[in-house]
Amino acid sequence: MRRRVYFNEFNVLLDGTAYLPLVSGLLRAFAATQPDLVDAYAFMPFLFHRDRPEPILAQYEQPAVAAFSTSMWNEQLNLHVAREVKRRWPACLIVFGGPQVPHHPEAYFAAHPFIDVAVRGEGEEAFAEVLRAEAAGWDFGAIAGVAWRDPATGACVRNVAERSQSRDLDLYPSPYLEGLFDDLMDRTDGMRFQAIIETNRGCPFPCTFCFWGQGGLSRKYRYHGIERVAREIEWCARHRIAYVFNADSNFGMHKRDLEIAQILVETKRRWGYPEKFRTCFGKNTDDKIYEIATLLHAHELEKGITLARQSNDEGVLRNIRRQNIKLETYENLQRRFNAGDVPVYTELILGLPGETYATWTAGIDALLTSGLKNQLFVYLAQVFPNTELADPEHQARFGVRTTRIALTEIHGAERPAELLPEYEDVITATASMPEAEWRRMAVFSWVTMVMHSLKLGFFLMSYLHDRLGVRYVDFLDHLASGAFPPDTGGILRAELAVFDAQCDRLLAGHGRGHVLPSFGTIYWDEEEASFLRISERLDAFFDELLTITRAYLTGRRVAFDDAELAEVVAYQRMRIPGAVLPPAVERRFTCNLPEYFATRFQPDAAPLLRTPQILTVRPRDYAGDRPRYARETILWGRKSGTMLVETEWRDAAGDGDDRAAGASPDAAQLS
Ligand code: SF4
Repeated sequence: MRRRVYFNEFNVLLDGTAYLPLVSGLLRAFAATQPDLVDAYAFMPFLFHRDRPEPILAQYEQPAVAAFSTSMWNEQLNLHVAREVKRRWPACLIVFGGPQVPHHPEAYFAAHPFIDVAVRGEGEEAFAEVLRAEAAGWDFGAIAGVAWRDPATGACVRNVAERSQSRDLDLYPSPYLEGLFDDLMDRTDGMRFQAIIETNRGCPFPCTFCFWGQGGLSRKYRYHGIERVAREIEWCARHRIAYVFNADSNFGMHKRDLEIAQILVETKRRWGYPEKFRTCFGKNTDDKIYEIATLLHAHELEKGITLARQSNDEGVLRNIRRQNIKLETYENLQRRFNAGDVPVYTELILGLPGETYATWTAGIDALLTSGLKNQLFVYLAQVFPNTELADPEHQARFGVRTTRIALTEIHGAERPAELLPEYEDVITATASMPEAEWRRMAVFSWVTMVMHSLKLGFFLMSYLHDRLGVRYVDFLDHLASGAFPPDTGGILRAELAVFDAQCDRLLAGHGRGHVLPSFGTIYWDEEEASFLRISERLDAFFDELLTITRAYLTGRRVAFDDAELAEVVAYQRMRIPGAVLPPAVERRFTCNLPEYFATRFQPDAAPLLRTPQILTVRPRDYAGDRPRYARETILWGRKSGTMLVETEWRDAAGDGDDRAAGASPDAAQLS
């Protein structure tokens, strides 16, 4: 009788949707090419559904081998299931692999005495050899790239040899094309799937916070053939996979990536799927990326183009070994994408070594001043095993201090209380950023995302900067201080208090995500939760914002036109969607504010003139359906640049009669 092998790969659950277990599929597909392994082993159905341990364990029956693909989001569940498998079936070989398993696993083995083998790096060939050694009597000593427990002493023995890697990735069969996921597609329990593909492996950059930066998947690129990539994309389309994530490190760096983008477009045209393709774009290349991203955008395949900047400070970039990634490339791309109305979002990481309050806020100011019109995402710096940032010497050099917090996957389904908690380690202090500074930087970042990225002050700040010379950083700093006139600013002040309490909770180990029951059962980021709460009181919020702004300008002796400022805030208000329709959808402005804002980031930006214009907004009617409003505005709209209310404007005669009418470019995306 063939002996049973179980693959465990528990992925994040997103609103009834899970990723197909790609790693398990790759291991199984390669093992299935080896006739001796096919004779010896039966590969059991994938265990992928994140659940309580008992229902998972109930699917085991006399296991010979249990393999666990271990990432930050499933490590505790894997450890629990593995411990219990070993207790119930002591002869079962427990194999761990994946980014969360230390490459020097001596302490990991001591802490988890049920683990028999740990594989580092790529797993296909190593896992096949582990199976072969298991069948032959548990001698794993000759397998490069693994550590194993000596059955006699219980000690961890590490084979230091590294595995040579073939340039041809197609040696590893595709689990999609081998039909290994077909039975999952036939499920009738309502579970939907997303797919991960990879067109190559490798990354030439050495970023300190990334496992690939340590050569985890090799510095040299290795490729899947284009034909295989095309067939996998078609497989996704035939199986109506709406969302495909591309695991390449730098899509757009290779000539053939344009061809892959064209295949995606053609496949979507033919099948209607995949609807969205998410990828990490390359660095230091702008023409190819521009061409690919605009093509994907034109066919509504992308969900916003990511420009992963991480820090805007040269010193910090040196510390994280990204000094070779040119900031001018980002700036060129941003300018070109703005001109083409392609939504861009920029990512920064808060808390990297060398960052200070001054470098951080100056960096954000430079980004906003340079015309970032879609999104700025600020993430907390996470520390992952097997990265330079996790190395104790590196941490000592930069004074890195981390806090272990509960993992609450943003936009993932709320974790039921009976699920085992998972954790992430985030940086909350460094030598250049004491904890109190971290908190100030976190508050500043939160205010920036609420006001700029979630658009609650986007037009107002743009006007203040352009017309009155107010620096973004100064106004945001003021909002973050909460120092408003005593009789106003209550809504923003209350949100600041919530965020301050959230900083305390984070430092005490609580997770980042917030569930707001009236807006659905998924986790929202802090700034998104603030936006949703404020969205219930938009008129009051903008009344307060006007008062705060007046007081700010007056206090700094900045001359301003009060009526014009009030109109700017009124315009700002009309562009923000709510769960219920606003009372008014049309307004007459005494100057051409609609046109001014519509063209603000275009090369042919219109000056602000005393030309009356009429703005008509076309808000979507959510009829008070808050979960739908939150999903469409934030979940879908934030990155893809469609969260703002669409508008039309026309010139109006001075006496109120219309002079000219027409669609406005403002109806295009501007978020
Ligand atoms: S962060 Fe991106 S560019 Fe840097 S090493 Fe990792 S995959 Fe490569």
